[in-house]
Amino acid sequence: MSSMLEIIDVHRTYLIGESTVNALRGVSLTIEQGEFVAIMGASGSGKSSLLQILGLLDNPDKGEYRIFGNNVNTMTEDEQAGVRNNVAGFVFQQFHLLKRMDIVDNVRLPYIYSGLKGNFRKEAIDRLKMVGLEHRIDHTPNQLSGGEQQRVAIARALVRDPLIIFADEPTGNLDTKNSAEIMKILQALHAEGKTIIMVTHENEIAEYAERVITMRDGVILTDTRKQGKDPSITAAKELGFDIHGAAKGSTLQDGRFIGFIAQAFQSILANKMRSFLSVLGILVGVASVIAMMALGEGAKVSMQEQLKSMGSNMLSIRAGSAKIRGASQGAGAVARFTFPDVDEIASLHTLVKNASGVVNGVGRIVYGNKNWSSSLTGVGYDYGTMRASIPSIGRWFTREEIQTREKVAIIGVTVVKELFGMTNPLGKTIKINRINFTVIGIAPAKGFSGPQDEDDIVLIPVNTAMYRVLGKNYLSGIFVEVASPNLIEQTKNAISALIIKRHRLKEGDDSFNIRDMTEIQKMLSSTTQTMSLLLGSIAAISLVVGGIGIMNIMLVSVTERTREIGLRKAIGARKNDIMLQFLVESVGMTVSGGLIGIMLGIAISLILSYFAGWSVITSPISVVLATAFSALTGIFFGLWPARKAAELKPVEALRYE
Ligand code: ADP
Ligand code: MG
Repeated sequence: MSSMLEIIDVHRTYLIGESTVNALRGVSLTIEQGEFVAIMGASGSGKSSLLQILGLLDNPDKGEYRIFGNNVNTMTEDEQAGVRNNVAGFVFQQFHLLKRMDIVDNVRLPYIYSGLKGNFRKEAIDRLKMVGLEHRIDHTPNQLSGGEQQRVAIARALVRDPLIIFADEPTGNLDTKNSAEIMKILQALHAEGKTIIMVTHENEIAEYAERVITMRDGVILTDTRKQGKDPSITAAKELGFDIHGAAKGSTLQDGRFIGFIAQAFQSILANKMRSFLSVLGILVGVASVIAMMALGEGAKVSMQEQLKSMGSNMLSIRAGSAKIRGASQGAGAVARFTFPDVDEIASLHTLVKNASGVVNGVGRIVYGNKNWSSSLTGVGYDYGTMRASIPSIGRWFTREEIQTREKVAIIGVTVVKELFGMTNPLGKTIKINRINFTVIGIAPAKGFSGPQDEDDIVLIPVNTAMYRVLGKNYLSGIFVEVASPNLIEQTKNAISALIIKRHRLKEGDDSFNIRDMTEIQKMLSSTTQTMSLLLGSIAAISLVVGGIGIMNIMLVSVTERTREIGLRKAIGARKNDIMLQFLVESVGMTVSGGLIGIMLGIAISLILSYFAGWSVITSPISVVLATAFSALTGIFFGLWPARKAAELKPVEALRYE
């Protein structure tokens, strides 16, 4: 039958820069089940190094180690973590309790890495009772004395009912009275059959043990058992223990994942201000993207709505280059349209259903003591039906009014609101550029097209506009309604030829341009596309900046919590467990930042729509995308710190100051 623990000619050498320290120089030792061993010796003699190897916190450079006959050297890191979790309990001189958690959470911590389901509060409280701390259950480690903290650490070591307790100077930080209490607890555990291996340099403490091993300069000097305390091998219960099975179970399975999420949020909340500041970049980025996308989407939809109401077989003829709209190309380069042009176009019978000339300008409108500036359009009779501008309150112009340059006006709802408030404008007299006009109708509300208010308009007869108000003898443009949608190309060519002929222009002259609605639609959608691209890059930049902030905080957090990581590894956390813990934490931060950002963005867009009257549409896709992106940012920027944490060696992490 194999011994419980057996090491044969074990060496351990530390490298410190160029020099080496031979901490263990050929140690051989067998420990049977149920023994209480004290390892003694001067400081630096290799006691801790030996204990760490026995406890699987460290591996020998040379030599063999067997547990119940299983070769430890061939085990993977994760298998060793599984063994630590199932077989060993650790008690350290520095207690190594996690300050954020209350003592019950500290005690049940090893269960997170056990792969077992349940909350294990009962087990934790039970072990706390065993060490006499049942009255301190709601306390955090900071609220306890040193002796009490060490008792919590013992309760944690006991929570998984380990076979062996490893204790490195368990009373090193305690006074005599507390030391005695801790030793009594260990003695009682030994009486129950636990194997205890303890490092100490104090004789009084070693007194409690039944076997004392002394070391000097990395070798064993003496190894003596108290009289009558030879471990009878028959007394040791034969324990079937599946070493390799201890490491089974994936990280995502079991109760682990929920445990990690709970702990991640505990840690985020423990540093509220810092967490908030580090997610600020992501929060602001997501909020602005959500708000901008809602505005963009709203603008797009209202533009489309308007285009639909205008009819799809509409052409707009304007003077000036198609490339530089409205910009003058020098004298004579701009075609000047007049009414004969409109008549000629209107007489293209099979192709054109209607044609109407318009003239544009700015009107200064005065009513009583209020005045308002708005876009002024001189329109022909057919404009009303062609552009869906026939008032539902009041009436459209008559042909005579247009012919005889009548001073009548139709005003948009924004103008009504600004000048008349709640009173009825019909029949009232307003001044447009100092000329008296009578209001005969209110143009149907159209809302916004992008940032442009389509209701901030004044319509007057085209002749009135040209000859009385704006003093122009040519038109700004001509609207044409094509007889049927499939004649659009043909009509454009015919009109183009007509204009070139009438104005004696060269072929391919760009002193005028003809647009159809599909072109206008295309232009608008390319504008919105450019806008989305711009917004997208703003979002990307802020997510990258936010992500770097998260990474920075996570790296600080890994460094700050190195000892915590060491402790978690000691009690059985595997690489993936640590990695996942930190990833969950960074993703938790970015996603909560993202969610707050989404709410803020929706709030901003609602405020804009309420106060500025812009139409906003928050698409569910933008919300889903924002959430997904913030989660991805968390994963991407959390990965490196998480790996860094996971790669730490348990002993080195525990020693970190
Ligand atoms: P003890 O516990 O008996 O005081 P240790 O086992 O801690 O002794 O250390 C034995 C020797 O190894 C000491 O000289 C110590 O400085 C050295 N040592 C221990 N751990 C490390 C380490 N991680 N890196 C470098 N040297 C170490
Ligand atoms: Mg030591």
